[in-house]
Amino acid sequence: QTLGAFFDDMAARVPEREALVSVHQQRRYTYGQLQAEANRLASALLGLGLKPGDRVGIWSHNNAEWVLMQLATAKVGLVLVNINPAYRTSEVEYALNKVGCVALVTMPSFKTSDYIGMLRELAPEWASQPPGQLSAEKLPGLKHAIWIDVPGEGADQPGFQRFSALLAAGDAQDPRVPHVAKLLHNTDPINIQFTSGTTGFPKGATLTHRNILNNGFFIGECMKLTPEDRLCIPVPMYHCFGMVLGTLACLTHGSTIVFPNDGFDPLLTLQAVQAERCTALHGVPTMFIAELDHPRFAEFDLSSLRTGIMAGTACPIEVMRRVVDRMFLSQITIAYGMTETSPVSCQSSTETPLEKRVTTVGTVQPHLEIKIVDPDSGQTVPRGERGEFCTRGYSVMHGYWGDEARTREAIDAEGWMHTGDLATMDAEGYVNIVGRIKDMVIRGGENVYPREIEEFLYSHPQVQDVQVVGVPDARFGEELCAWVVAKPGQSLSEDDIRAFCKGKIAHYKVPRYIRFVAEFPMTVTGKIQKFKIREAMIEELG
Ligand code: ATP
Ligand code: MG
Repeated sequence: QTLGAFFDDMAARVPEREALVSVHQQRRYTYGQLQAEANRLASALLGLGLKPGDRVGIWSHNNAEWVLMQLATAKVGLVLVNINPAYRTSEVEYALNKVGCVALVTMPSFKTSDYIGMLRELAPEWASQPPGQLSAEKLPGLKHAIWIDVPGEGADQPGFQRFSALLAAGDAQDPRVPHVAKLLHNTDPINIQFTSGTTGFPKGATLTHRNILNNGFFIGECMKLTPEDRLCIPVPMYHCFGMVLGTLACLTHGSTIVFPNDGFDPLLTLQAVQAERCTALHGVPTMFIAELDHPRFAEFDLSSLRTGIMAGTACPIEVMRRVVDRMFLSQITIAYGMTETSPVSCQSSTETPLEKRVTTVGTVQPHLEIKIVDPDSGQTVPRGERGEFCTRGYSVMHGYWGDEARTREAIDAEGWMHTGDLATMDAEGYVNIVGRIKDMVIRGGENVYPREIEEFLYSHPQVQDVQVVGVPDARFGEELCAWVVAKPGQSLSEDDIRAFCKGKIAHYKVPRYIRFVAEFPMTVTGKIQKFKIREAMIEELG
């Protein structure tokens, strides 16, 4: 099935159920209303002259329009291109041109980002061109620019169309929409998603209906979602965490999507969970930490919570335990995956024993294969030993958009996706992610896994967050460096950390360099960019 067909079946089953609550926009949609609006928008997109296979970009934080675009583009075979709201002019220019977007939906501004202003800088020609017939030197293929407006407010933007006007031009009963939908196949591309850019420049993964619809469904199964569930999604839609683990898990189970805010804000997230009686909450570890450590945390009644997903990056055991104990998330699960695999390969379920749920990323998802191999020989390693995590099955992307060579590097001739992640699997099939191959540090001939040292330092009572990287060293090849964020109001010294390590971890694992920082360089998905920490240290150390 395609996403559109699956969603229509769900809307027919639970038309009166709430599908979407956008708290910051004060908007609510039932499944029936969301379906009608999605059909109207799909009709409007066809009205612009867009055809199946055309790429449509969305450069925006979370809002109702995002979900409508996700559904409407899927219904008429357009390929939605998620563009990171943290991108600036040269990056958005690259992304739009790389995949050849014909249309772009954006929001006018957010905090200090002026999206329309940045586009005007790139395409000054648009100001004198009629909407729908845009043509700028730097954005040659882009014909339609649409801004997410508040109806009736704000001055018109020359060259741009208002989202509200576009929607109003559509017809929810337009017969062309089901007609086009019938011609679609579940192996058609639905989405180009850029990876987070944790290890370098983001890559655009082409995903199909079959890829993400199945994955969203099984993710929701692991959480045991039902139409009674209300999932708070503070993670960005621009990333598969928001779009697949968030909205698709909900929409395939008749559950309610709750957007607490457009960007991440711990206080607004806690408020939304309480006010909307959410039963589930997603987040990367740093988001959960920010919520738990918020000075007003204790004021909130979070007793409606049951489950959710922590994912995106290593999920420290300490943080998982605090979330279970203090946020009522006794059925929280961890998921592991990557954009290229739609994204989830492994996930614990609400029935996984708590100890395994807190300490592993769970077991392989249904209908997928996984193996852990020696990266050099390609042979499967014995249980318990480290190796590269590989996966095969419905979830593996179609490929990197317009990059055959890179695709062939990532997916081998037998269809296995080589993730670049190091993992172990125990006798019962539970998987642990021990780091990225790229992050592994070789110090004086010893392999050191930064993740292990991070886990250890997290257990220091005054440490809020910690990252360990390798930096080049003339004597040992590489040396370890830890960046530490101390808990608010705590003062920590390098000697405190060293004393804490002494006798508890091997001497070669004790970081040579320790730095105290207020925060880490991060992607908008909340992932820490270790390569930037490494660059800063290399600069500092000369
Ligand atoms: P880029 O590929 O651009 O460098 P990225 O790999 O961070 O960025 P994503 O596709 O968003 O981009 O993230 C996938 C990666 O996130 C995985 O390959 C893995 O390293 C990490 N990851 C995801 N979930 C987990 C988890 N539960 N535990 C440990 N690591 C995880
Ligand atoms: Mg990656």
